[in-house]
Amino acid sequence: MTEIKQWQDHQGQVLDSVNGFDVIDCTLCGFKHAIPLPTPDELEQIYRHEYYTAEKPLYLERAREDIDWWNLVYSDRYDSFESLLPMGHRRLLDIGSGPGFFLLHGQNRGWQVRGIEPSARAAAHARGLGLDVVEDFLDEASSQSLGRFDVVHLSEVLEHIPDPARLMKIARSLLIPDGLLCAVTPNDYNAFQHTLRTACGFPPWWVAPPHHLNYFDFDSLSMLFESTGLEVVSREATFPIDLFLLMGDNYVGNDQLGRACHEKRKTMEQSLAKAGLNSVKRNLYRCLANAGIGREACIIGRAIDS
Ligand SMILES: [Zn+2]
Repeated sequence: MTEIKQWQDHQGQVLDSVNGFDVIDCTLCGFKHAIPLPTPDELEQIYRHEYYTAEKPLYLERAREDIDWWNLVYSDRYDSFESLLPMGHRRLLDIGSGPGFFLLHGQNRGWQVRGIEPSARAAAHARGLGLDVVEDFLDEASSQSLGRFDVVHLSEVLEHIPDPARLMKIARSLLIPDGLLCAVTPNDYNAFQHTLRTACGFPPWWVAPPHHLNYFDFDSLSMLFESTGLEVVSREATFPIDLFLLMGDNYVGNDQLGRACHEKRKTMEQSLAKAGLNSVKRNLYRCLANAGIGREACIIGRAIDS
């Protein structure tokens, strides 16, 4: 039986109820999200002080362990930007730049890079790498002094915040005409997750409020780009890691098995690159995006005249 819930102006069918939140397929927003949405004060506490210490204590250690693989991921992304921009257009802003590894990769490649990051610990780490990072949340006020960019990058940010449409609008305002906005979010309520849930007895493990408030897929994220005045020019998946679950490796709540599955994905991707066939991987991931499959959705949009 379907239950419809309303909270403020948001309304939609209830998909799941976890941690005192309901996830609705919101008809107002055009994407799935949790209600009630936390207040700005509650979120500020999480992201300024707790996130990289309480929620992601292993993040830095693992980022270092996986750095060769991450550099391949980052290299693909900068390759995309360079193929879509004229020569000389190499200024990038990373919103939620975390410990700074994505910025560092760009800087080493000759890009002029800047970050904005609310976590004191993560921002200090990035500055220690010699990077230009503003320690703040992005809002209308803080955006005024950041400058203009050829690319604005938002990786694993939009799923965390209560008003992603507003943040997209601010991010777009920081672009030069024809500039690019790139967003990466989890691709949730996808066909593999649906299968695991309905045929294999899995709980909705990907539903994690208040850390994940929004649950995008390729189509709803594309719609958010279009409603922000951005023409979608690239849609690419990341490896559908939930495939391991479907094949019987249940890594949910099993960190050791999760790492082992991640290692297999790394081996596959790095072997293709070593063989000079990185383009095969990228074609595959574009096909997966068209099929709505992939653990994350990576979408690039171009700012069009409004
Ligand atoms: Zn809504």
